[in-house]
Amino acid sequence: MKSQLPADEASAFLDAAIKGELPDERGRFGPFGGRYVPETLVPAFERLEQGVREYLHDADFQREFQRELREWVGRPTALTFAPRLSERWGTEVWLKREDLAHTGAHKINNAIGQALLAKRLGAQRVIAETGAGQHGVASAAACARVGLPCSVYMGAVDMERQAPNVDRMRRLGAEVIAVETGDKTLRAAIDEAMRKWVTDPSGIYYLLGSAVGAHPYPYLVRELQSVIGVEAREQMIEQAGALPDAAFACVGGGSNAIGLFYPMLGDDIELIGVEAGGTGEGLGQNAATLATGTPGVLQGAYTMILQNDDGQVQETHSISAGLDYSGVGPEHALLQATGRVRYVAAGDDDALAALEELCETEGILTALETAHAFAYARRWSQENPRKRILIGNSGRGDKDMPTLTKHPARIRTSASA
Ligand SMILES: *Cc1c(COP(=O)(O)O)cnc(C)c1O
Repeated sequence: MKSQLPADEASAFLDAAIKGELPDERGRFGPFGGRYVPETLVPAFERLEQGVREYLHDADFQREFQRELREWVGRPTALTFAPRLSERWGTEVWLKREDLAHTGAHKINNAIGQALLAKRLGAQRVIAETGAGQHGVASAAACARVGLPCSVYMGAVDMERQAPNVDRMRRLGAEVIAVETGDKTLRAAIDEAMRKWVTDPSGIYYLLGSAVGAHPYPYLVRELQSVIGVEAREQMIEQAGALPDAAFACVGGGSNAIGLFYPMLGDDIELIGVEAGGTGEGLGQNAATLATGTPGVLQGAYTMILQNDDGQVQETHSISAGLDYSGVGPEHALLQATGRVRYVAAGDDDALAALEELCETEGILTALETAHAFAYARRWSQENPRKRILIGNSGRGDKDMPTLTKHPARIRTSASA
């Protein structure tokens, strides 16, 4: 069931979004977002909101953030034309290369931005949650860079599944704390980090990894990740000579997608978010929150979630750990409800095939998360031939080798084909 707003409300909210007026002062993106947290957490969130208002757009902070993006993260990341893929698909394909950013994905943009903010706020230490370990690694690296101790909460089940990332975090100086409560995965890790934060909201900074959760996180993360879309927009004009007809990004919590889409909301570009379709359409078989979920409250925000008829949050499945989450950022829920962005799903097998095709045609091993965007872009191109498209290449796939090894390459096309 996709939520839809009445046409007049939809166009009013979309106007406000394009003008940069959302979230409103209550942290709402139209009907979505807000802050649904226990009383004990209110002071921590208010402190953070105050800090964001004071520092995020302050000239000094921005100068420091831009310098770190340039000198340490390696921005601007390249915009790459994909000639062989373009020929195969019968359309002009451009890739925004977040895989080239330090630590291998877009997550570092947010991590270094929030680590700098933590410094400004006078925090003595940083805590973060992680599922697959990618945000934990980015947070550990960013904290080392700014000189703050970092503790990463990680579900015990995930620690076992993602052992190499646990080692990476420790080498980067972070303490990794095993979460044995709840589902022992990402959701439990977020709950546990929140619980820790309450104990010392002024000494601890909570570095959240995606554009999800209670206000001001969805706003803060979007602002830090928008550098992706701002750069891509300029690079398209400069290198391709025009904006794309359509742009695609994979959606887990939604941070790389909102970063790419937000600066393009006012343009004549079809925007498409691609979620994890997993192994099928049944509840529990996928993580297609927007494509198949219903509205509800999850971890502090009113948004679209995967839940059963009793409102129990549903476990998800995806071949890519980074898309395996039963909620999604509230701004995406609004963009869907207004019709501005379309959200679709691509399954495990399609993602694997797309990953192989990109390897073989362009010499780029993309992340399994990202491969979902390629899978759907390919399908779209068959229905919309001879266009110009942009794909957010959110990260690199080296981390996925253990999974890929279990799925031997099936598409075999020689380089001369
Ligand atoms: C974590 C991750 C994602 C999913 O997170 P979003 O917040 O939805 O962007 C996508 N791609 C890569 C490479 C990731 O590491």
